[in-house]
Amino acid sequence: MFDIVTYGDPVLTQKAEDVTSFGSELEQIVADMHAAMRLDHGIGLAAPQVGISKRIFIVGLEDEPLRVFINPVITGMSKETSEYEEGCLSFPGLYFNVVRPAAVEIEAYDIKGKKFQLKADGLLARVIQHEYDHLEGILFIDRISPVKRARALAHYHRMLKM
Ligand SMILES: [Zn+2]
Repeated sequence: MFDIVTYGDPVLTQKAEDVTSFGSELEQIVADMHAAMRLDHGIGLAAPQVGISKRIFIVGLEDEPLRVFINPVITGMSKETSEYEEGCLSFPGLYFNVVRPAAVEIEAYDIKGKKFQLKADGLLARVIQHEYDHLEGILFIDRISPVKRARALAHYHRMLKM
């Protein structure tokens, strides 16, 4: 079982590496990520958040089967944007609005190594972009203005001391 890595751990700001082999080891990582995400009531989780710097993320929206994205590439983004309140399992208790493209197109491999393409909008597009950012070492606090970022981090550090 994995523990979720929280802000301050250098793995969260590194660019993750491609997955080079599919098989039981990868399946075990994904199963353990799924368990960790469920335990923390998350709807998305990226491998760096469990200390594994690999290009893997999962999305588990309510009433939907788990989606697994291996070596994903975002191939298109809508010009239209939307603003939505995000949280992150690596920043427990911190939530704020983030503006992102409203829809995305993504290419990735599934757990069996089969390539797929997906067009997503709404919450799915939102979670995909948040998790994809984790593979680039980008955190949701990096997606807001410097002033809001400083305020969010100050709030987060105050919460940690309580
Ligand atoms: Zn996150």
